Amino acid sequence: MNFNGNFNHICDADVSPIQKLVNNLTEKHWALDISRQQKYDVHEDTATINLVHDPDFRHMNPSKHPALDVFGPVIQPVLAYIAQYYENKLANKTLIEQYGAGYFIRANIIKLKAGGTISAHQDKNFSLAHSHRIHIPIVTHEDVHFTVGDETVHIPVGEVVEINNRRFHSVSNNSEIDRVHLILDFVVPGEPCCCADKTHPGELCTPESCQATDRLMIPCYCHP
Ligand SMILES: [Zn+2]
Ligand SMILES: [Zn+2]
Repeated sequence: MNFNGNFNHICDADVSPIQKLVNNLTEKHWALDISRQQKYDVHEDTATINLVHDPDFRHMNPSKHPALDVFGPVIQPVLAYIAQYYENKLANKTLIEQYGAGYFIRANIIKLKAGGTISAHQDKNFSLAHSHRIHIPIVTHEDVHFTVGDETVHIPVGEVVEINNRRFHSVSNNSEIDRVHLILDFVVPGEPCCCADKTHPGELCTPESCQATDRLMIPCYCHP
């Protein structure tokens, strides 16, 4: 989702119960879901544990994966906090009354290998343009740098941060340890993308009406 800024700090969470589970993951677990690094060149230094995920990047009816049975109980508190954070925003309250409760369309644990990078890119599909992308570092190091737009930061363990995934973003792990983030995509049903008022005023966003917007085939001057 595009917004006025690069990073939006939501809260700090105690992620030690998640850390414990992550530390017990073996190479075998990390090798189970390899579609992400195969599909996208920018993600070749990553490995993923899918909790809630669909390779087609759908925007509703997400698929839950077996690893969610293990991680679900320990991520539940932070998920609940994030859901409330978005649902309590005034504009979203009206949407939720009209279109139903918010939901996590994706939840994944993603490792960026020691020395690895994710090169600069913008997220360009319907669901990623219409959901809030939230990063929570579970294992990290001060030499891991996250750049969004013209801003580069280190996000410490347990900080819950939405990133502006419609701006160019990149990550470099200059440390000697593997970085592990919990990455969540939260949907407020009916929430428009930044260009909606301009491209289809008064109508809900749909994959058809937003296709040119999502892929940035038409220029976006929102939140410069
Ligand atoms: Zn839209
Ligand atoms: Zn826009």
